[in-house]
Amino acid sequence: MDGAKPKGFALRTSAKLTQDAVVTRITSPNVVAILPGSDPKLKADYVVLSAHLDHIGITPEKPGDKPGTDRINNGALDNAAGIATMLEVARAMAEAPEKPRRSVIFLASTGEEKGLLGADYYARHPTVPAAHIVGNVDLDMPLLLYKFTDVMAFGADHSTLGPLVAKAVAPMGLTLSPDMMPEETIFVRSDHYMFVRQGVPAVFFATGFANGGDKAWPKFLGGNYHHPGDDMSQPIDWASGARFAEANWRITEAMADGDAAPMWNKGDFFGDLFAPKAVKAGR
Ligand SMILES: [Zn+2]
Repeated sequence: MDGAKPKGFALRTSAKLTQDAVVTRITSPNVVAILPGSDPKLKADYVVLSAHLDHIGITPEKPGDKPGTDRINNGALDNAAGIATMLEVARAMAEAPEKPRRSVIFLASTGEEKGLLGADYYARHPTVPAAHIVGNVDLDMPLLLYKFTDVMAFGADHSTLGPLVAKAVAPMGLTLSPDMMPEETIFVRSDHYMFVRQGVPAVFFATGFANGGDKAWPKFLGGNYHHPGDDMSQPIDWASGARFAEANWRITEAMADGDAAPMWNKGDFFGDLFAPKAVKAGR
């Protein structure tokens, strides 16, 4: 019965649907800092280290809540830990006697949890010429709950940022593992993707599945994630926090110091779609 259409029929009853919406205008700023590069030519280009500064606020009261139920979503890992990591990289780079060759943008974005709003705005209306933003690493929800020995960079397969990350963290004894949660489609779910949509190669950098990560990740995503339990009562491993910051410093340095800017891989879906005219890396 190819091409046949199902026959319509009159419903026996009718329904009327209405919907109300209240629109409130609010303002929430991104916070941006720039560390000027040291190379007379390359300083005109910018690499971005980003992390979102917002979280999801207070969970509304539900019928049956016990008195004193904790409804405050602190977002200790999502994303205070990401912001703290970014600030530490900024401090280390600003204090180092030798500055990176390209300029570095530290972006604390707002409204990520509302749909990547702050990053979308910044990627479309940057405070520097858009064409000079050449790469982005995003930090969202680093799981600092175990002694990580490997890392993941969501989107590593799409651009030269994959090999760059692998090389940058190797001196720390860290290996770059493949995306262990492809079903979560993380590459299109955080702020870096707004840069991708403007044609900028980007990755979301995170701790890996080795040495306890395989248990910690699903446990967090199915438990404290977007829940009042994402607070300081979690067993945060501070030494891993310091290591994660060092890894990010090395990656940001590598992006800023490389002779070539990050490039999309030849034939990559995202590169071809969002940066059709950009020079691609051969594989
Ligand atoms: Zn987040």
